[in-house]
Amino acid sequence: RAKQKSRGTISLYQPEMDQQIRDRRVLHQDLSKAIKNGELSLAFQPQGVAGHTVAESEIIGFEALARWQHPVRGQVSPAEFIPIAEESGLIVEMGEWILRQACGEAASWAKPLQVAVNLSPAQFAHGDVVGLVHSILLETGLSPGRLELEITEGVLIEDFDRGLALLRRLKALGVRISMDDFGSGYSSLSYLQAFPFDKIKIDRAFVINLGRNPQSAAIVRAVIDLGHGLEMSIIAEGVETIEQLAFLAKEGCDGVQGYLLGKPLPIGQYARLIGRAETIELALKTG
Ligand code: C2E
Ligand code: MG
Ligand code: MG
Ligand code: MG
Repeated sequence: RAKQKSRGTISLYQPEMDQQIRDRRVLHQDLSKAIKNGELSLAFQPQGVAGHTVAESEIIGFEALARWQHPVRGQVSPAEFIPIAEESGLIVEMGEWILRQACGEAASWAKPLQVAVNLSPAQFAHGDVVGLVHSILLETGLSPGRLELEITEGVLIEDFDRGLALLRRLKALGVRISMDDFGSGYSSLSYLQAFPFDKIKIDRAFVINLGRNPQSAAIVRAVIDLGHGLEMSIIAEGVETIEQLAFLAKEGCDGVQGYLLGKPLPIGQYARLIGRAETIELALKTG
């Protein structure tokens, strides 16, 4: 089969590639049914202030992370299914579900903690992201000040003017915007200057190497200074050790997120942090 050739073209046929494409196609078909089949859910990962110890790192919010429980494959990583959802346009519907779910959840907490939701590039490029955020805030009753939208580098660059206008309109709603995975892409300093981010999330790659190479420490220090100079707050992602936490606190980093404070888990696992007693949950369920 691999020997078949179309005239005048050089065949780059590779069976593994073919398999990958078929996998993606099947996954895409399954994904399109995932929402209505109830296979999607959200995991919540705590975000704390950067204290010198875990006990001093008070939890002030959570990042909502999408999870897909595939009926046959089990858990599929968002790193795998989000790109498929983006390419196929499914992300618009899925992103809406995620945002509604996250805001509704946060609105039900007894404590007014923050909730951070990831927005994908496609949601910015297509769909009416401002209208969506606005209507979901009204619908769920979540105070806009409690919602943070995470976007990755590059999302705004494709159409600079439009990107800037969208960010300004989102901020006018009262929500905050954070730049996710800072340092992992085409970050440029002018980008930070041009767009009104409230927060910079330092990519995990720099945090992992904090104890291992002095360059990472220098970069993290510089990003903290830079962000503060631009009146943005800084959170480090992927904090796994006490040493990393202590270094970040010492350098004046504002926030931390990572396995050290807690893994992404169903919100029920964090019932105490959100001030949800079982009795409150029951009362809400029975109306
Ligand atoms: P992200 O937004 O940078 O999310 C952080 C990722 O780092 C999460 O992976 C989280 O589980 C992982 N992580 C957090 N702390 C640690 C740590 O201490 N150590 C290590 N090794 N990993 C840690 P996850 O959940 O697999 O998500 C991967 C990416 O998928 C996210 O990166 C985000 O870009 C995307 N994603 C996840 N949920 C959504 C969503 O609802 N919408 C959109 N558009 N993208 C999403
Ligand atoms: Mg994120
Ligand atoms: Mg991130
Ligand atoms: Mg990341």
